[in-house]
Amino acid sequence: MALESSTVYEFEEEYRNTLSTVDAEGKRVWIYPKKPAGQYHRARLGVTVLLLALFFGGPFIQIEGRPFLLLNFFERRFIIFGQAFWPQDFILLALTLITLFVFIILFTVAFGRLWCGWACPQTIFMENVFRKIEYWIEGDANQQRKLDRAPWGRTKILKKGFKHLLFLAISLLIAHIAMAYLIGIGRVQEIVTQSPAAHLAGFLGLLLFTVLFYGVFARFREQACIAVCPYGRLQSVLLVKNSIVVMYDWIRGEPRGKLKKNQPVAEPRGHCVDCKLCVHVCPTGIDIRNGTQLECVNCTACMDACDDVMGKVGYPKGLIRYSSHAAVEKGEQRVFTPRIAGYAAVLTALVSLLGFLIFTRADVEMTVLKAPGTLYTKTDDGNISNVYNIEFVNKTFDDIPVEVRVEAPASASLVKIGPGELVIPREGMVKNLYIIKIPEGAITGVKTSIVLSAYQNGRKIESATARFVGPINMKKTAI
Ligand code: SF4
Ligand code: SF4
Repeated sequence: MALESSTVYEFEEEYRNTLSTVDAEGKRVWIYPKKPAGQYHRARLGVTVLLLALFFGGPFIQIEGRPFLLLNFFERRFIIFGQAFWPQDFILLALTLITLFVFIILFTVAFGRLWCGWACPQTIFMENVFRKIEYWIEGDANQQRKLDRAPWGRTKILKKGFKHLLFLAISLLIAHIAMAYLIGIGRVQEIVTQSPAAHLAGFLGLLLFTVLFYGVFARFREQACIAVCPYGRLQSVLLVKNSIVVMYDWIRGEPRGKLKKNQPVAEPRGHCVDCKLCVHVCPTGIDIRNGTQLECVNCTACMDACDDVMGKVGYPKGLIRYSSHAAVEKGEQRVFTPRIAGYAAVLTALVSLLGFLIFTRADVEMTVLKAPGTLYTKTDDGNISNVYNIEFVNKTFDDIPVEVRVEAPASASLVKIGPGELVIPREGMVKNLYIIKIPEGAITGVKTSIVLSAYQNGRKIESATARFVGPINMKKTAI
């Protein structure tokens, strides 16, 4: 066997100015990727099974009767790892988002789009669920192409109808599970088992999700990664020469050339036999031999395809492999670069701070506000009084009895308005009015700083400060 002589190695530059999924007129080019197979594909299927089990099982996992994960944006109620979080925890939320952002940067700088290929729900559902069904019903790429070009007849209607019916059913299932993460599995069960009129918003939400998922997986497909996903679009600024991505070894592969029977091997030549199988299996329709591109979701299909070819032509595997530009170019792979060290240091600091804040988070949050429309009142016994509205948020799953005390100034006294002990219900919020009195002589000016604490069974659980309003021209006296 010999290679068709490949003269000078040249990259095809058109790929920089064109999208493989858009033609010259700007119309969508439908991608028919060849069925993937190989060790990476099998490993990814294993990971997919695990992640899908987690995704579909997640809403049913309960910790002491509470969901493991609930992100109820509508009622602003969040349960993460069984712990309740409230909008009042927005500092934690903001810090979590910043930490996540730094983690994503660090991870991407080091390992490129590993997430996209192995764990992103879009890739998992598209390549390992919906595409599998398509292969099963319509066959491999060539058969799909043939079916699409064929006139509508019984076979085509049956195949297409069955495929889209299954797509709809799976989209419906995904919509229910996604909804369960938002409103809880119990509420989803109510929507499913009762009349749509009784839960119109929930019912419409489920419908909307179903249409969305069906639209993405049946039609929009790789465009979600290429044109919509912000993470995909960030790659150009995140990836560096040392980032590990799906990489074609151009040093080894070029000059490429086709193998031909009964012809002597032309030397020198690279290992790429220009079979284009790596292109035919690519779900985003690109040629990885042109280098790292925004469209590449690191799905590993081209690695498997090329390994198979290399095995057949007797060359070592790994012409397309997980590697970095620097590793291919200079033969050295550096993972722990100064940039990575810097990001890692920032990430460590953020995680430590986040851990500290979560660990020391108060069970009850107390917000003290002056009652609207009130200033101060002089009482007959020589005191100045202010009325406060105090709001308590119970972030736990137990009722908490609360007693409020004024810590400073020491001469201040507090009266709760309304009878009985104040109990903050689990995951609940309560507001109560309080009158705080300070002797006239202890007031330092128009505004005096006061400190209040909430006690649970004699244990201080939260403190807050507020301003106490007094009369103008009050004689300044030490407290
Ligand atoms: S599969 Fe491998 S040998 Fe075939 S064209 Fe792609 S890189 Fe070259
Ligand atoms: S280039 Fe390879 S890894 Fe990237 S999307 Fe295409 S097949 Fe997947």
